[in-house]
Amino acid sequence: MGGPNITRRSSQQALVGSVMLGGGAPIVVQSMTNTDTADVEATTRQVHELDKAGSELVRITVNTPEAAAAVPRIRERLNGMGCEVPLIGDFHYNGHRLLTEFPDCAQALAKYRINPGNVGRNRADEDPFSIMIAAAIRHDKPVRIGVNWGSLDQSLVVRMMDENSRLAEPKDVREVTRAALIASALQSAQRAEQLGLAHNRIVLSCKVSEVQDLIAVYRALAMQCDYALHLGLTEAGMGSKGIVASTAALAVLLQEGIGDTIRVSLTPEPGGSRTQEVVVAQEILQTMGLRAFAPMVTACPGCGRTTSTVFQELAQSIQAHLRSQMPLWRERYDGVEEMTVAVMGCVVNGPGESKLANIGISLPGTGETPAAPVYIDGEKVVTLRGENIAAEFTRIVDDYVAKKYVKREG
Ligand code: SF4
Repeated sequence: MGGPNITRRSSQQALVGSVMLGGGAPIVVQSMTNTDTADVEATTRQVHELDKAGSELVRITVNTPEAAAAVPRIRERLNGMGCEVPLIGDFHYNGHRLLTEFPDCAQALAKYRINPGNVGRNRADEDPFSIMIAAAIRHDKPVRIGVNWGSLDQSLVVRMMDENSRLAEPKDVREVTRAALIASALQSAQRAEQLGLAHNRIVLSCKVSEVQDLIAVYRALAMQCDYALHLGLTEAGMGSKGIVASTAALAVLLQEGIGDTIRVSLTPEPGGSRTQEVVVAQEILQTMGLRAFAPMVTACPGCGRTTSTVFQELAQSIQAHLRSQMPLWRERYDGVEEMTVAVMGCVVNGPGESKLANIGISLPGTGETPAAPVYIDGEKVVTLRGENIAAEFTRIVDDYVAKKYVKREG
């Protein structure tokens, strides 16, 4: 697609399963399940849903022996369903034991996420971090060293705070904490390399929950290393707040070429779908012109000229239809994800926007003739009337897709 010409800052590429992160590779969307991983059926179902929604990597928590034992069974079931999305294991406290005691789990995962602040205590006879890195080397897996503000290595923070307090002009506490996050990630990466993990098998993240902190931390991190970077605002929150905060932070960094894979950490509404975080991540990338995932609907906000709900209903049903068709269309058609559809509320801006889109419709505003002109590739082709405008317009969209985006063989 004709997106902005932004060079990603990381020059290293890390291969996760069949998915490339970093360097010039497209920015990858990932998500995380919220099922109990030990529940094979529920986790398989949710991973499959996330995959169908377009998640290119899916992280699952591996927190107990039961969860670790479930991982190869989940992988097997997904493979049986034709779902090859790489699984990432999220380990805290006991990851070194689980990766050692459950080699099939270690093998079934495509990447391990290690949080240096939560790896478990070093003992004279046990160094959890080095055991996890050894498992990654043994199974030839990449590792994300994922530092988090909420679980930052406290001994490192205390040491850096002490050093700061001895300075003639001590820095702000927040600034020191940001520096500690970056130091934790970089020192852990350096240690992983000393233990034998290849430079291009390491992905870094430094997640925080405030927008300005995230921007400052990732700008500094990107200046100091060339690892592929996983980007995301942690604990972004619910509903519009979570979406807005994530978008505000990620957009600034992505525009500067920072970030090779993103996750939008939304708290789902009770009963809400986990796939929302995938849709939001895709929409951030697509509205910025960085990638295309599904046809986008341009719709006007409506105003006093649209006093019925017909226009909102059509915009909503078309958007839902386009998204629901994508798993099938992705297989059948080339380039359909770049299609644009305009649904406009009246003739003031309707024809203009319709001509700019691949397909556009202007519904009649209040007091206008009850007719809805449809434009295809800038030309008016038909005017719809009557009760079945939505169904007829959907059929026109489907026909257009089938003719325009025919898959090229080979
Ligand atoms: S296109 Fe028409 S209905 Fe939509 S916002 Fe503009 S004037 Fe209002």
